Amino acid sequence: MLEANLLLVLAFIWGACWGSFLNVVIYRWPRELSLVRPGSRCGTCETPIRPYDNVPILSYLLLRGRCRACKATFSPRYMLVEAACGLLSLVVFRSFVDVTDPETFANGFPLWLYWQTYVYLLVAITFIDLEHTIVPEVATILGAVTGLAGAFFFPLGLRWDAVIGLAAGAGFLLAVVGVGHLLFRREAMGMGDVLIVGFLGAWLGWRALPFLLLLASIQALLAAGAAQIYTRATGQKNALTLTTQELDERFDEVEKNEGLPPHLAIPFGPFLALSGLEAMLFGTDWFWRLMDAFVSSWLT
Ligand SMILES: [Zn+2]
Repeated sequence: MLEANLLLVLAFIWGACWGSFLNVVIYRWPRELSLVRPGSRCGTCETPIRPYDNVPILSYLLLRGRCRACKATFSPRYMLVEAACGLLSLVVFRSFVDVTDPETFANGFPLWLYWQTYVYLLVAITFIDLEHTIVPEVATILGAVTGLAGAFFFPLGLRWDAVIGLAAGAGFLLAVVGVGHLLFRREAMGMGDVLIVGFLGAWLGWRALPFLLLLASIQALLAAGAAQIYTRATGQKNALTLTTQELDERFDEVEKNEGLPPHLAIPFGPFLALSGLEAMLFGTDWFWRLMDAFVSSWLT
């Protein structure tokens, strides 16, 4: 039993270490900096961060989120990403591997490794989009390719379901973007969102798409509402309530958002990614059973 628990702890630590690397990606990728060089350093005083101050989660807690040299505060995002990746790695491990049964270990271990690709790509997309309102296209394309590869490689893979998922997901969103453009002459969603849904469709199959899109929309609306209330109450802006002008200043791509009311200038990508994780964690069969029950009760 001790060994079993040790494996779970290791799965968490493994994920937290990936989270630590993702923090580097989230900071450097949008700024077009090298991912390997130089090593981590404080953004304020540029002092290199020593290995013993770079332990995932623990270092942040021990130093209370501050630089050891200049005491500048680091964003809590660093610890959040590490903890989230640790937990996700652990949850995926548990869903594929029964640690008490060596047989499931041999089959589940490759699946655990594989699904971490999905998880970490979504975490990176979420935080890059939240901070910069830009979707890293490389991550979505990598996601779509690995999703299709896994669908055909693993014995119980989705196979053509994944291909249909990719095409239908990206196609549907592309149509929404097109219609929005024609009717309102503005872009509520971008090509980045189209790519994310294609990526999710390739991993989860087309059956997951209605649930995904519904859940993402509901959560985005709730967050936009909460952000509005927060801004009114405190007068402070946050990632979800940037005005279009502020968005324009950051990136030229969002220039087209001119005229969009500020509360609608929220990135949709993080909510798509979030519901992608939720669909993975909770499955989507229950959603279809619910729809089934709803429709049949309505018809009789
Ligand atoms: Zn410093």
